[in-house]
Amino acid sequence: MCILRLLLFCLLGMFGSLLLRADDAAPQNKEKSKPTAEKEQSGITFDWIHVDGPYVALTFDDGPSSKLTPKLLDLLAAHHIKATFFLIGENAAENPELVAREARDGHEVANHSWSHPNLAKMSDDGVRGQLRRTDDAIKNALGKSPTLMRPPYGSITLRQKRWINQEFGYKVILWDVDPLDWRRPGASVVCNRIVKNTRAGSIVLAHDIHPGTIDAMPCVLKELEAKGFKFVTVSELIAMETPLPPKPSPTPKPSLPPKASPAPTSAPAKSTSSSPTPQN
Ligand SMILES: [Zn+2]
Repeated sequence: MCILRLLLFCLLGMFGSLLLRADDAAPQNKEKSKPTAEKEQSGITFDWIHVDGPYVALTFDDGPSSKLTPKLLDLLAAHHIKATFFLIGENAAENPELVAREARDGHEVANHSWSHPNLAKMSDDGVRGQLRRTDDAIKNALGKSPTLMRPPYGSITLRQKRWINQEFGYKVILWDVDPLDWRRPGASVVCNRIVKNTRAGSIVLAHDIHPGTIDAMPCVLKELEAKGFKFVTVSELIAMETPLPPKPSPTPKPSLPPKASPAPTSAPAKSTSSSPTPQN
């Protein structure tokens, strides 16, 4: 009897763990439908831009930092390089003079939420408040609203992208190069990852709140310049967008619709952006 009861418990335990595993897998399945979803978002969401020319956009998230951002701005000015800053509203409200300097130096300033929450898990009103307060902080510093937003962690639903675009007029900017600099792997690792993965049309993610990221930038700028890249803001990069060449197909009339492909010419450098807990 005892043995039978033990067996029953074992079986129940096995079923239980199978069910749990099925739950864990659910979000991954959702992720797999992403390419189709991204296609529907054409003109709203960008992680890489097809351009004719060696143009790239450097982006810096989570600042401004009163300690580190001025150092980065000095370096960018010395190289005559324009970048894009996705600001945390709290930091922008604390450092309006830095926000103003970013714009004065020719950089683009954009919305990265008020306090860096996971927007996909929030109510519409919660998201609205996060974006509105940050928009106001930027408008107070610059006299005008930004036109781009980046969701913290890249986490945002298709429905949210739509209404945010309609309500705020924002384009939603992700990235194709992620050096995972928030893990603070050291300046040379950050530099190598960026230089290795950047290609024409890339949107490079970095954070101007980590000393190692700032320390990596002299190397990043030098190496990318040596490769012939030119630096523009994200809005400038989007304005340069050219149509993708039609994909050569061996069969003239495929009976099935073409599969949604994330990258038409060469695969974007997504190597590290699928990290479970990115701190963008
Ligand atoms: Zn962030």
